[in-house]
Amino acid sequence: MADEEQRELVLQACRGLAAQGLGPGIGGHVSIRIPGEELYWTNKLSKSFEEMQLEDIVLLDFHGRSADPEVIVSPGIDFHHGIYQLRPDVNAIVHTHGFWITAQAALGREPRMLHNMATYFKGRTAIAPDDEIESIAPAMKDGDLAIIIPWHGSITMGENIQVAAGLHHTLDYVARLDVTAPADTPEMPDDHAEAVQVLLAKADYLNLTWDLLCRKAERAFDGQFTTPLVTP
Ligand SMILES: [Zn+2]
Repeated sequence: MADEEQRELVLQACRGLAAQGLGPGIGGHVSIRIPGEELYWTNKLSKSFEEMQLEDIVLLDFHGRSADPEVIVSPGIDFHHGIYQLRPDVNAIVHTHGFWITAQAALGREPRMLHNMATYFKGRTAIAPDDEIESIAPAMKDGDLAIIIPWHGSITMGENIQVAAGLHHTLDYVARLDVTAPADTPEMPDDHAEAVQVLLAKADYLNLTWDLLCRKAERAFDGQFTTPLVTP
């Protein structure tokens, strides 16, 4: 029996991302793996994150199929189960076309090191030419926690949804910094970035960011829709 709590968590993540302004259009999905099974919960493609309801969160197998033949999620869903098969350490994935995330992805590289939080992505980001798992697999290495797809959007992933969604919120911030800061803005030196990475590994920042996303979701949800608190 699949865990309904995880279904609720997918919905919670969709609403938190919507509150943050990351889900105004069609496209993007959140998923959570069912431990020990070749199944995961994810959202349907037919609604924006702002419109998502519990019945829009559906269970798929590792072929991207629902038990209900009427449910068609997205032709782009395959990388979710592809990543789950390649990376046993990944149990949750967030993919959006957030405005700043997409603008940064078009640069085709990691975000520049312009803030402590950018160091999460330093050396841990794959660049894939498209969202096919055949493209992502050779680009991704163990330990990567983000995938940037130029002219499309980005993916974050983690051991749980707290990490995957916390990283997505963080990527949104550092992507905006990257895109808007002048080209000659000095970047954090490598040794400084490495020291920050050590500090962040001990911090509870991503869990706290998830809690913040949940509070934003609560503030932004009127009982039917989530109205973004932040616009890009
Ligand atoms: Zn996409």
